[in-house]
Amino acid sequence: MLKRTYLPSDDRPIAVVIGSGFGGLAAAIRLSHKGYRVKVFEKLDKPGGRAYVYQRDGYTFDAGPTIITAPFLLEELWELCGEKLENDVDLRLMDPFYRIRFDDGSHFDYTGDLAEDLVSRSKQNASLTKTAVEEAVHAPLLEQNSVLAIEGEV
Ligand SMILES: Cc1cc2nc3c(=O)[nH]c(=O)nc-3n(C[C@H](O)[C@H](O)[C@H](O)COP(=O)(O)OP(=O)(O)OC[C@H]3O[C@@H](n4cnc5c(N)ncnc54)[C@H](O)[C@@H]3O)c2cc1C
Repeated sequence: MLKRTYLPSDDRPIAVVIGSGFGGLAAAIRLSHKGYRVKVFEKLDKPGGRAYVYQRDGYTFDAGPTIITAPFLLEELWELCGEKLENDVDLRLMDPFYRIRFDDGSHFDYTGDLAEDLVSRSKQNASLTKTAVEEAVHAPLLEQNSVLAIEGEV
């Protein structure tokens, strides 16, 4: 016979989060902080979403983000819980952040300074300056055709 266990009553509203990627987990933490009882549903066997790590044929595959580009967002979540990210995670600065290799043998290093990286990558326009790229990148959305023009030169 099934015996039912009753938990103490909990009047908090329930929030349901579908998916346990970074987005789902961050939403769950924030909702929990706001006083919701949060239930997270995940269709895979482990959490992580794009950051899922899986094993196949003796190898371990990192399915997505290999670096954290916005650590302050994680720090914020830890702080919401009264904790410090650095007590749980040892983040190390990578230089470069990553290297993209092209089939012509060339490569592009991303250092975290997009304007600097685009200028160093520029092959066709030696007069392209970091200031010009920065101005174009930070231009209002309606002026983004200037960014497209620069992309064409890189
Ligand atoms: C190759 C690669 C490299 C990346 N590198 C970086 C990086 O360096 N830095 C960075 O900040 N970001 C990086 N990203 C982006 C980052 O991984 C994603 O922005 C982030 O993981 C998205 O999180 P999410 O929760 O929105 O979605 P997802 O991670 O896609 O999570 C969605 C989850 O929902 C689950 N789900 C879907 N449907 C259902 C359902 N019906 N029921 C239950 N569960 C369901 C899925 O199984 C999955 O676990 C990279 C992404 C990729 C692919």
